[in-house]
Amino acid sequence: MTSDFDVVVVGGGGSGLAAATRAAQLGLKVVVLERCQELGGTTGIAVGSYTSSGTRHQKVAGVTDSPADHEDDLIKFAPPEIEARNNKSMRTFFLGHTARTHQWLESMGLRFVGPSPEPPNQKPRMHNVIPGAKAYVATFQLELRKHGGVIHSGVADTELIIEQDRVVGVSGVLRGEKCRWLASRGVILAGGDYSSNPELIAKYKGEQFGQIEGINPRAIGAGHRLAMDAGADMVNMDVTYGPELRFVTQRKQPFQQWLPTTGWRARVLGFIASKMPNWIMNRMIKRLLVTWQHPEDSLFDDGAILVNRDGDRFVNESNWPDREIAVADQNEKQAYIIMDDRLIQLYSVWPKFISTAPDIAYAYVKDYQRLRPDVTHLGTSISAVAESANLPSKQLRLAIEESDELDPASNRWAVLGPVKAYFTTTEGGAMVNQQMQVLGDAHEPINGLYAVGQNGLSGMILWSHGLHIAWAMTSGRLAGECLASTNPIKTG
Ligand SMILES: Cc1cc2nc3c(=O)[nH]c(=O)nc-3n(C[C@H](O)[C@H](O)[C@H](O)COP(=O)(O)OP(=O)(O)OC[C@H]3O[C@@H](n4cnc5c(N)ncnc54)[C@H](O)[C@@H]3O)c2cc1C
Repeated sequence: MTSDFDVVVVGGGGSGLAAATRAAQLGLKVVVLERCQELGGTTGIAVGSYTSSGTRHQKVAGVTDSPADHEDDLIKFAPPEIEARNNKSMRTFFLGHTARTHQWLESMGLRFVGPSPEPPNQKPRMHNVIPGAKAYVATFQLELRKHGGVIHSGVADTELIIEQDRVVGVSGVLRGEKCRWLASRGVILAGGDYSSNPELIAKYKGEQFGQIEGINPRAIGAGHRLAMDAGADMVNMDVTYGPELRFVTQRKQPFQQWLPTTGWRARVLGFIASKMPNWIMNRMIKRLLVTWQHPEDSLFDDGAILVNRDGDRFVNESNWPDREIAVADQNEKQAYIIMDDRLIQLYSVWPKFISTAPDIAYAYVKDYQRLRPDVTHLGTSISAVAESANLPSKQLRLAIEESDELDPASNRWAVLGPVKAYFTTTEGGAMVNQQMQVLGDAHEPINGLYAVGQNGLSGMILWSHGLHIAWAMTSGRLAGECLASTNPIKTG
């Protein structure tokens, strides 16, 4: 089967849906091809922070801000050797467009709370979508359908169709049938990241990292493969966000996932959220944070130890990323954090906390006990916590007695875990220009091919909470607008 469109989008996560929605709003005939059965990708499991400068929310809060000030602060987020890899002109361009994108998102009914501070940002810039990032996915889906967009999920084996040096469409398999979707204006790659592609991770980052999983097991870099096949210039492929330790997630959906993301109920929720006292918002956000958050490194500097499922200590816990590599090498790739009474007390009050998203909320031992009882085992003896966490008591006691850091005579113990080492996301992607056109090795655009979101990161370093989603939405919006202003070619 062959069908004709103006735009074919490969990937139905945040950036792909943003691109498709904007293109459809501007009158283009659009199809989204999604590999999985559900839309959303990593965007669908994210917190939903959107970091931006010069927004309406900032004005209401009396914050004077600009993209230039934002850029000055952003330089301080990543370690200098990573920041040195940044594509400066592209990031400057991007930061100049985030407020406009935020306005566009609000125009479709999305509601945000904030801005919240996130040091070293000197101004509050983080806006959190209500009730969580699934709201982006649901809102785009409705808006896209309203404008006649077509969505196919469960599309396998996507390949680019290239004719006379131009990408003219995508082939793939839908419900067992081989299909061709032709694009008279362009194909947009929006395939997300490759944090769960061990081959790509090992190739670019080193074999020792190949064991470490991505948080999203579906982030397999299938869009990166398509870009590479077309001859795209791929940059910063060895740069990753993480690895870092994270508590293994709950199987059941967190509270936020039950909240309405669309319709009048979501609007009412947005209104209520905007009037809610900060302490209630903090409580809600805390619940979200402890679902995925990673234990602070300071825990290990302060003396917490890690044991594996056999109760054995296996690594010097203070050494990143050796710690994460070693955890990924253990049975079931899992480990447990052991804390005695001194550490429990230390991590029960500011300034020490188990996990955080800076300045929104801090989660202490008691928060984990309340919100993640599945990973929090407290007791008055080593044997009690060992039994609760299903660890061999004798081995655990030995590990504690042999450690210099913990006091075997302590009368209070905490076992937090299991934790695993994860990549949150990867930071490599295709080079794109300001029209989101994919560039080849000689920096010339590849005709008909565009990339957005993590697929088309263009060498930018976006290490502050909320900038990845801001890029997904902004690059998607801009790609839709650019394609609406190009001339169609004849296909078929
Ligand atoms: C737990 C967690 C929380 C996060 N929270 C935040 C946050 O609050 N703020 C923030 O800025 N960032 C956050 N991030 C990062 C951010 O969510 C992502 O970087 C961003 O959403 C990626 O959007 P995307 O559109 O590029 O990719 P995705 O949302 O992953 O979408 C890619 C889609 O493309 C599909 N696909 C891939 N290849 C193909 C193919 N060949 N054919 C068809 N379909 C294909 C995938 O299945 C997927 O659905 C978080 C990440 C994680 C893991």
